[in-house]
Amino acid sequence: MSETFSFQAETAELLQLVTNSIYSNKEIFLRELISNASDALDKMHYATLTDDTLAEGTPLITIDWDQKARTLTITDNGIGMNHDEVIANIGTIAKSGTKELLRQLKGGKAKAEIPEMIGQFGVGFYSAFMVSELVDLYTRKAGDKEAWHWQSKGDGSYTLEESTLPEHGTKIVLTLKPADLDEGLADYTDEWVLSDLIKKYSDFVRYPIKLKSTIYEEHKEGEEPKDKEPKYEFKTINSMKAIWLRGSGEVSEDEYKEFYRHLTHDWRDPMRHIAQKAEGTMEYQALLYLPGAAPFDLFYQGYEGGLSLYVRHVKIMDHCTDLLPTYLRFVRGVVDSPDLPLNVSREILQHNRQITAIRKALTKKILDTLKDIKEKEYEAYVAFWQEFGRALKEGFTSDSANKDRLTALLLFASSADKEKLSSLADYVGRMKEGQKDIYYMTGESRDVIESSPHLEGFKARGLEVLYLTDPVDEIMVQYLGEYEGKKLKSINKGQVDLDDEEASEEAKKEREAEKDECKELLERLQELLKDELKEVRLSSRLTSSPACLVVDEHDYSPHIERLLRQSQGKAAAALSPKRVMEINPHHPVIANLAKIAKTCKEDARIEEAAELLWGMSLLAEGSPLDNPAKFTKLVDKLMASQF
Ligand code: ADP
Repeated sequence: MSETFSFQAETAELLQLVTNSIYSNKEIFLRELISNASDALDKMHYATLTDDTLAEGTPLITIDWDQKARTLTITDNGIGMNHDEVIANIGTIAKSGTKELLRQLKGGKAKAEIPEMIGQFGVGFYSAFMVSELVDLYTRKAGDKEAWHWQSKGDGSYTLEESTLPEHGTKIVLTLKPADLDEGLADYTDEWVLSDLIKKYSDFVRYPIKLKSTIYEEHKEGEEPKDKEPKYEFKTINSMKAIWLRGSGEVSEDEYKEFYRHLTHDWRDPMRHIAQKAEGTMEYQALLYLPGAAPFDLFYQGYEGGLSLYVRHVKIMDHCTDLLPTYLRFVRGVVDSPDLPLNVSREILQHNRQITAIRKALTKKILDTLKDIKEKEYEAYVAFWQEFGRALKEGFTSDSANKDRLTALLLFASSADKEKLSSLADYVGRMKEGQKDIYYMTGESRDVIESSPHLEGFKARGLEVLYLTDPVDEIMVQYLGEYEGKKLKSINKGQVDLDDEEASEEAKKEREAEKDECKELLERLQELLKDELKEVRLSSRLTSSPACLVVDEHDYSPHIERLLRQSQGKAAAALSPKRVMEINPHHPVIANLAKIAKTCKEDARIEEAAELLWGMSLLAEGSPLDNPAKFTKLVDKLMASQF
């Protein structure tokens, strides 16, 4: 009995986009289907290692074409699928990122890249609909007797019914759309076209890919061939040689790139490949890639990083996350080791000494390669940093052993240059004489930081400030602590005595006089704002603004507090520490207020000014006002006195 199902809404929507796309590179459907077949064969092989009741035939992928019927059939004797697996794997898109993909695609920006993108989203199977009017999938799970026939035109629905297959595995029959070169549709029933595609995309697949090939009978010139009906045989097209086992001299750059695509479904070129071979007490081969661009979900919860793990050239696991620390989750690739047990489980991996040793060696290799790129190809490194710097910074919290290596890789935006990024070494090289600390400020963006009052004193004194705009920066600097004996110091946290830097006696005297001048005002402001603030004090970081807010050295910065509020709501508000207000004694408003406070501390104008200064300082650091209505009324009143 045949059942009819509707595709899940997102799946249907995605299919719609795929089938109607006008992208020319439709041929990649074959790579996707062969890649699925090869995965199914890996899974079959792995299953026979752990389940004695299963027996494996000779693993094989066959590709059969029929020019008259315009069909292309891809068959594997891999693990196959049962009824529920067909629905879960083929009828649904399980990936958490699907909604995000749709959003991006509908944004229009990536339209041209749709067919290439779909592979990356784990929906490679659907690329079959770019070239097919109808897709039939027959599959039988290893160990099961019954087979299933799934069919769809790629419109809103599919059917599923019981069927038969001689052995376990999957057979996919594509009824092809008419060839149309203008539409980027080659004739995928032409054996030359197919053989080229297999060599181009799937040469390194570990299993033989056998393509139906015409046998040309030898015949004498001038004589008609005896047999009019052509004969066929299935010929192996791919070399099957695992790319990481070949010497690097034998592999072309294009082959490395193509393998990267096979592995990651990323349509962009990788930035670099890293081949490593270890011999001796610990034996393994690794082929790693630094991608050219970050996948859209790198910083999302569901992101699946990890390397493919092979034991004696047999794939044991995709996404093995124990081979690299989490912060290097963007690195993709393969590790092949003869020393691990074949039926190794994820639990065993976590505590395996061999794996720990491999992780250590690979991490070092990756960080050293990055250092090398930074030194020799700075521009390429900056591009890399922009994509993955945020992930590297996470390393400070978890990989103290590599702290120095990570530190050498850091780049920051800085007040010293509008565009160019700076390393800590650059900063230190530019430090002023007598400057003890490395100054930084965290905030949402360069613009926000640059317009912050906290920066004024530093600008005026020509002191460079690093701008830290990633959410992880705040935590990263805590772990970093110092660089070459110089402390990293936040300019919106704790006490900053900029005049100390200059340390002139005169300045100190002036400071004492100012304190005296403002004594009553400071006391009064403190009284009025005692619920909001920890303290009111004089500032040396302000030159043109009347006041600003700072937090204590070990409290969250307002930037992080806002992020916490967004993610944890009101609960975070309870955590939020009281601030310190610093006022600028050189500002005419403050100077006048100080005079008023000297004659009459209770003057109503000071009360209003306190409210205004509090509101203005909150706005300047990008925080919301406690009571916007009250603040607006005061501003209103001020304006009325002016105009
Ligand atoms: P991906 O391969 O990235 O997971 P696909 O859309 O290509 O995404 O395939 C979805 C799932 O369908 C696969 O993960 C696999 O479980 C199953 N599948 C696809 N093709 C086959 C096949 N030839 N044999 C067994 N399972 C398959």
